[in-house]
Amino acid sequence: MAKTRLAFARIAQETNALSPVLTEMHDFESIHLLEGETLLQACMPKGYEAQGFVKNAELSGCVKAGLKDGNVEFVPLTSAWAVPSGPLSKATFDELLGRVIDGLKAAGPVDAVFLSLHGAMNTLGVDDPDAYICEVIKQELGDRPLGITLDLHGNLNPRIVAASDVLYGYKTNPHRDHAARGRQCTEQLLRVARGEVTPAKAWRSLPMILGGGLMLDFLKPMRPLFRWMKAQERKKGVLGCSLFTCHLWNNTPELGWSTYAMTDGDQAGAEALAEELAEKCWAVRHELPPELPDEFEAIDQVRRARVARATGTVCMSDASDVVAAGSTGENTKLLRAFMDKGQDLVAYFPIRDPQAVEEIWESEVGQEVSISVGGRLDPKRNDPIDISGRIHWKGDRHGFGKTVALDMGNIKLVITSGPALCMKPDFYSDVGLSPWKADVCVVKSFFPFRLFFALQNRKAIYVKTGGITDFDAAKQLQFSRPVHPFHELDDWKEADRARRG
Ligand SMILES: [Zn+2]
Repeated sequence: MAKTRLAFARIAQETNALSPVLTEMHDFESIHLLEGETLLQACMPKGYEAQGFVKNAELSGCVKAGLKDGNVEFVPLTSAWAVPSGPLSKATFDELLGRVIDGLKAAGPVDAVFLSLHGAMNTLGVDDPDAYICEVIKQELGDRPLGITLDLHGNLNPRIVAASDVLYGYKTNPHRDHAARGRQCTEQLLRVARGEVTPAKAWRSLPMILGGGLMLDFLKPMRPLFRWMKAQERKKGVLGCSLFTCHLWNNTPELGWSTYAMTDGDQAGAEALAEELAEKCWAVRHELPPELPDEFEAIDQVRRARVARATGTVCMSDASDVVAAGSTGENTKLLRAFMDKGQDLVAYFPIRDPQAVEEIWESEVGQEVSISVGGRLDPKRNDPIDISGRIHWKGDRHGFGKTVALDMGNIKLVITSGPALCMKPDFYSDVGLSPWKADVCVVKSFFPFRLFFALQNRKAIYVKTGGITDFDAAKQLQFSRPVHPFHELDDWKEADRARRG
């Protein structure tokens, strides 16, 4: 039997449409941009798919499925992944999609394409860029199948559903099943390519948004939903069952939860599954995200957490400026509060400010400097703050770019040029700041930090400082129709029919 030629690629970024910081080619180049043989090697069992981020992700899962199958010829195209931020520029989007399409054309006929997308990527001048990518590739493929995986925070729409043949979303939050979903999708994709199954797909689109990154898969209300979905996937004839809880700050007029089901040729069965899951989701719509304390109440909570501080550290998530959800990472409200009211606590802070880094880059370690930080990327929302400190460390780091750590007494400030995606202890320990010695480590992550900091973290505090990753910040977006909980709604079906078109 001739080998099945399987091409694979990724174009992924999660967009916070409220951020004015555009995502450009260098944002992919500095994080993850691999092509051809280099990409294939990175996805092989001994490779490292996304340096500093995740060892095995969707494309490793795809390669694993192909290796296990034993009759697959890989056609690695391009893989591009950037830190969540503002929308892609049109030029960047065109460049990335152009590379994937050129690679596909140069490879000659393939039997199937596997694509790892996010599902909540925005691009200036392109409506629904994830759907557009699928449409352009599907045009190349004709009747050969396209399989895609999306982030749990993706958003389904009629175009992306129509243009793809096999579709799966993560079933974990924080996400840790990238590779498992890539593998699952590829296994089904190979069966479709060989005519062993014929997917019948159905989906529903709910007029509701909920807590995004704060809704964890192992807690209510998500746990029973994921368990039910996995049980459906074990049933004969069911190829897949997925849920998408959307990215709250995405610029798409039909933002909301969506459900998706695939069966082997049974359209009515797929419809029933997607519908039942949608009903289950609608039933949990009143589980709203918790109210969070402001910066001063949060400082008091740290002060009261004596045991946590004595035995480890307190992690404080700046929930209004979550870089992992696309914020700029330059909100100074929390830093100002600690400078005014929290000088008795040893506190580590991240901040992104490329201009400040440049201003002090020529200074030596040990030297005292005075600069202004913050409020440069999104000056309408963030205020600059004047600070002084001694340079404790400086260097160039993968993903973070040029970095300077300042010793400001009890406050230690790590200033980065690139996205301050601070969610792992090595963000601090790599610049000589031991989390064990801190009363509080500020992080810019909703939940992944709890996994990475599990060893040191004795208490987690979420603080609301006012920014573009606040739940109610989503109210600034344009919705084409009423959406729960911003509007009163007691039925989802009418909206669903309109949203699906
Ligand atoms: Zn996500």
